[in-house]
Amino acid sequence: MVTNKRNEALKKAKIAVVGGGIAGASAALCLGEFGLDVTLFEKGTSLVNGPPMCHLHAGGNLYREISDEQCITLLKQSIDLLRFYPFAVDYRPTVIAVPTEDSGEPKDLLPRLRTLQSEYTSLIASDPHNKVLGECNDYFKLYDRKQVEALQKQPYVEHPAQLDDWMIPVVKHIDLDKVKFPLIMVQEYGLNIFRMASGISLALEKIANCKVLLNCTVTDITAKTDESGWIVTYQQKGQKEQQAEFDYLVNAAGFRSGMLDDALGFKQERMVEFKAAYVTKWDHSKTMWPEVIFHGERGTPRGMAQFTPYPGGYFQLHGMTKSITLFEEGLSAS
Ligand SMILES: Cc1cc2nc3c(=O)[nH]c(=O)nc-3n(C[C@H](O)[C@H](O)[C@H](O)COP(=O)(O)OP(=O)(O)OC[C@H]3O[C@@H](n4cnc5c(N)ncnc54)[C@H](O)[C@@H]3O)c2cc1C
Repeated sequence: MVTNKRNEALKKAKIAVVGGGIAGASAALCLGEFGLDVTLFEKGTSLVNGPPMCHLHAGGNLYREISDEQCITLLKQSIDLLRFYPFAVDYRPTVIAVPTEDSGEPKDLLPRLRTLQSEYTSLIASDPHNKVLGECNDYFKLYDRKQVEALQKQPYVEHPAQLDDWMIPVVKHIDLDKVKFPLIMVQEYGLNIFRMASGISLALEKIANCKVLLNCTVTDITAKTDESGWIVTYQQKGQKEQQAEFDYLVNAAGFRSGMLDDALGFKQERMVEFKAAYVTKWDHSKTMWPEVIFHGERGTPRGMAQFTPYPGGYFQLHGMTKSITLFEEGLSAS
C-alpha cells in the first residue's frame, strides 16, 4: 500500500535532466520508460553528439594502472550497456600488445584476465542474459610466437568468425620483433556512437511523457526556498529565457557538470582525461580489423597507443603520450 502510494507520487513528479550526452539521454530513456514525467535539456542540435566513444571497456584491459575492483566494475557496467544498447555495438575483439621496449610483461596481465573471466562466469550463472561477451572460455586468448607465425601465412578472412580470423590482419602488419609474447586477444568490443545516438533519439520520440528540448541551454539552477525541488532557468535558441520547476534534477552535463554543481554550491572532485585522436581512411584495408592496443608507460613519449577500426575502412589512432595524459600531474585542475 505504502509502496503503491509512493509509486503514484513518483509518477506525478517532474524530473529535469540537464545534458543529452550518453549519460543524460540514457537516464531520460530509463526514467521515461518507467512512465515518469521527464524533461531533457540539451544545448546542442542533437543527442549524444559530444566526445567520441568507440571502445567498450569490458574489463578495463586498456588500463594497466587501475585496480582489479575498477576493472570488475567496468565489466559489469559494460554488460549492462550491451544489454541496454545491443544495436550500438560493433562486435569485434581487442588485441593487446606489449612492446619490447616496455618494462611490463604480457604475463603480468594474466591474473587480472583470469579474475575477470571468473567474474564473467559468475555473472552468467546469476543471470544467463549477462552472456553478451561470447563464451566465458573465449573472454581472452593468448597467442605465442609460433601460433602468430602460423597465422601470418593464412589468407585474410573477409568476415571473421573465429578468434584466429581476427588475429590475421594484426600479425600480418605488426613487426613481431618489436612486441613481447604472448599477444592477448580480449572480448572488448567497439561502440558505435552514431547508432547509439540515432537509436536513443528514436526511442525517446516514442515516449510521450518525455520531452526533449534541443538547442536549449540551462543557464541557472536554484533550489526552491522550501527545499521541495529546483527552479531551472533555460534558454532555447532565438527565444527569451524561461523558468520551470522540477521535483528532481539529474546533472548530466558531462565535463560542464561542475558549472551546475557550482551554481548549487555542491563541491565535487572530478577527473578530466586528455587524449588525442586522429581519424584516417585506409582504402587498402582488405578485411575487418580488431582494435589493437599497444601498452606504454603513461606520461612518457611512448605512452599507450590505440588503433580503432570503424566500418567502411575508417581507422582512429589515439595516443596518450607525455603531452597528452591524465597521469602527468594526477588530476587535471579544471
Ligand atoms: C578522444 C576521446 C575518446 C574517448 N573514447 C572513449 C571510448 O572509447 N569509450 C568510452 O567509454 N569513452 C570514451 N571517451 C569518453 C566518453 O566520450 C565520455 O565518457 C562520455 O561522452 C561522457 O558522457 P556524458 O553524457 O557524461 O557527457 P557528454 O557526452 O559530455 O554530454 C554532456 C552533454 O551535456 C550538454 N550540456 C552541458 N552543459 C549544458 C547546459 N548548461 N545546458 C544544456 N546542455 C548542456 C552538452 O552539450 C553535452 O551534450 C572518450 C573521450 C574522448 C575525448
